[in-house]
Amino acid sequence: SNFSDLGLRDPILRAIKEGGYEQMTPIQSRAIPNILEGKDLIGVAQTGTGKTAAFSLPLIQYLLKGEGKRKAKTARSLILAPTRELAIQISDNVRDYSKYLHLRSTIVFGGASEKPQIKAMAPGVDILIATPGRLLDLMSQGHIKLNEVEFLVLDEADRMLDMGFIRDIKKIIKELPDKRQTVLLSATMPKSVTTLANTILINPVRVEV
Ligand code: AMP
Repeated sequence: SNFSDLGLRDPILRAIKEGGYEQMTPIQSRAIPNILEGKDLIGVAQTGTGKTAAFSLPLIQYLLKGEGKRKAKTARSLILAPTRELAIQISDNVRDYSKYLHLRSTIVFGGASEKPQIKAMAPGVDILIATPGRLLDLMSQGHIKLNEVEFLVLDEADRMLDMGFIRDIKKIIKELPDKRQTVLLSATMPKSVTTLANTILINPVRVEV
């Protein structure tokens, strides 16, 4: 099925067309319409399936509704990822898909200087992409506030739990409003991920590819 049938705004369609995307991948055709309807979603999908676009495109469309609503030090949406490499990949994709729009995104991860990350967060962002440890550090120092997050994505949830991030993830999510949309992606669904999903998603649609 085709991207143009989704009701995505023209600047988004233009960007993905220029990226050479024509057909949706299975995770995209099954996840995107549900996310656009405002539903919570669990996507069981590996890297290489097009999972990043599956959550990023409806997220970008969602954020257009409140363009310019950013407040200092806050994020309107949060994407949590296990590693710096994955966070950078997501950020590159999000920037590419939103290149014809005025959305502000930034990225926060460990193993790099905090200063530029703090500075980038200061005016507030539409999309914050973060690894859990550094995000918690900057939250506890008062540089990032998550009380305005309307949309949460957990990417590679199984890997985040394998890496021991469960306590950090719970601390982070406790700061988010209950009223939000949540999307969880995982390559596998062990009991630990199901348990986490049960506590942070509401009536999720489950899509497996
Ligand atoms: P991901 O699974 O998100 O890591 O994506 C794997 C690769 O597929 C990335 O390089 C994407 O840019 C590319 N990709 C994602 N969706 C599509 C699509 N519908 N058509 C062609 N390429 C795509």
